[in-house]
Amino acid sequence: MTKSAAAENSVKELRELDKKHFLHPTTPIKEQQVEGPELIFESGKGIRITDVKGDEYIDGVSSLWNVNVGYGRKELAETASEQIMKLSYGSSFFNQSHEVVIRLATKLASIAPGDLDVSFFTSGGSESNETAIKIVRHYWKLKGQPEKRLIIGLENGYHGVTMGTTSATGVPEFKNMITEIAPGFLHALPHQTECEKGDKLHPNYERSIRGIIEKEGPENIAAVILEPIQGVGGVNIPPEGYLKAVRELCDEHDIFMITDEVITGFGRTGKMFGVEHWDVVPDLMSVAKGITSGYIQLGAVMMSSRLRDELADMSEGPMFHGFTYSGHPTACAVALKNIEIVEKEGLVENAREMGEELLKGLKYLEENHKITAKARGMGLMAGIELFKDRDRGEGFAPELFAAPTVVAACKQRNLILRPLIFGGMNAVAIAPPLISQKQDIETIIEILSDSINEFEQKVL
Ligand code: PLP
Repeated sequence: MTKSAAAENSVKELRELDKKHFLHPTTPIKEQQVEGPELIFESGKGIRITDVKGDEYIDGVSSLWNVNVGYGRKELAETASEQIMKLSYGSSFFNQSHEVVIRLATKLASIAPGDLDVSFFTSGGSESNETAIKIVRHYWKLKGQPEKRLIIGLENGYHGVTMGTTSATGVPEFKNMITEIAPGFLHALPHQTECEKGDKLHPNYERSIRGIIEKEGPENIAAVILEPIQGVGGVNIPPEGYLKAVRELCDEHDIFMITDEVITGFGRTGKMFGVEHWDVVPDLMSVAKGITSGYIQLGAVMMSSRLRDELADMSEGPMFHGFTYSGHPTACAVALKNIEIVEKEGLVENAREMGEELLKGLKYLEENHKITAKARGMGLMAGIELFKDRDRGEGFAPELFAAPTVVAACKQRNLILRPLIFGGMNAVAIAPPLISQKQDIETIIEILSDSINEFEQKVL
C-alpha cells in the first residue's frame, strides 16, 4: 500500500469509528451517522487548524469563540506539563487550597471590573452560570426571602446546557431536549432601553425586564442574567445606554445583575470584559472560554467581597456546591499563563484594532452584496446577516439554508465561520483569534465575499 493510500484508509477508519462510538454535541445525529464527521482536526498553529487529510483552514470563529491566543502555544503546553508534574490535582473542598488557584483568583481580582474581587471556580460556562443562579437564590433564602427566586433572562440569550442554564437561555432551539423549563425562569425582550428606563407607554413595555418585574413584583425576583453582547443568539450588540438602564433597574428593586461574559471576557470585544464598554459593574460575572483560550477547561463566577461577606455572615454551614474540578491546578496554571500572554502581547488592544478592520470589511460587503445587511461587531466579535430583500427586511426561505450555505462555501475555501440561524435569522458569525493580523482579516473578508457571491448567483 502506498503512503497516501494508507493515510486515506486511516481517515476512513476514523470516520467509521466516529460514527460507531461518538455522540457529538449540538450535531444532528442522523447527519453524523450518514455522512460521518465533516472535519477531523489533527493540529493547529496560530489562527490555522489542519485536518487529518492535511487541509489547512483559517479558524474564523476561534473554534467556539474560545481559542483567543491561537493554537499551538508552547508556553501553555509547558506550563500545563510543569504543573502536572508538581501537583496534578488538589481539591479546594473542605477549606483546602493550593498556590495556583490562589494566584489566579488574585489575578482575576486585579483585572475584573469594579469591585468584583472574589472567584468561585468551575469547569466551564454552563457551570459558572448555574453557580451564579444558585448563589443568588441561596442569598435570598438566607436573607429570609425565599420567594425572591425568579430569574429573568433575555430572549435570544444563551447561557449553557445544564437544567438551570437551559431554562435561563432564551434561544428556543436549545430547549429541544427538555419537556419543561425549571421553575422560576422568565424571559424579557432584549435591548428595550426605553422600557427599562421606565417608558410605560412603549408597546413592548410588558415584555421588557421592567414590565416583568412590575407584573411579578420585585419581592419575587432574584436576578436578571444577560450577556453584554449576545453571542449564539446572533451577535446582538445592545444599544447605548441599555446595560446601564438594566443596572439602575436592578439597583432600584434590589435585584442581582448577573452578566455572562463567557464569550466577551478576556479581550474578545476590545476591552478586557464586555461590560467595560458601557461602564457597568454587575453583581456577579460568569467567565470561561477565553480564560484559558480553550487549552483546558475552566470557568469562574466572580462577585464582590462585600457580597461574599454577606453570605458568610448569613450562613451557618457550608455552601453545598462545588465541582470536583473547581480550581483544578493545571487549568489555573494555564489560565494564569494565558492571561499573561493576553496582557504581554497587547491582545485586548489588537482585538480592538483588528475589530475595526473587520467591521470595515463587513461594511464593504454590505456595499457590494445586496443580500447582506446589519453588519455589526465589537472587537473580534462580529456578524452580518443575509436577506432576500434587505430593504424590506425579507429573509430567505428556510429551505435555502442561506447562512449555512455561505458558511459551507467558506469552508470550501478553507475558512471556518459559524452560521447563526436561530429564530429564522440568517447571520454569519466572525470571531477569529485575538492574535489575528490585518492580512488575516483581509483574507477572511475576501473569502466571505466570494462565498456570498456564489450564493447570490444561485438564488438571485
Ligand atoms: N454562556 C455563553 C454566553 C456561551 O456562549 C456559552 C457557550 O457557548 C456558555 C455560556 C456555555 O459555556 P460552556 O459550553 O462552557 O458550558
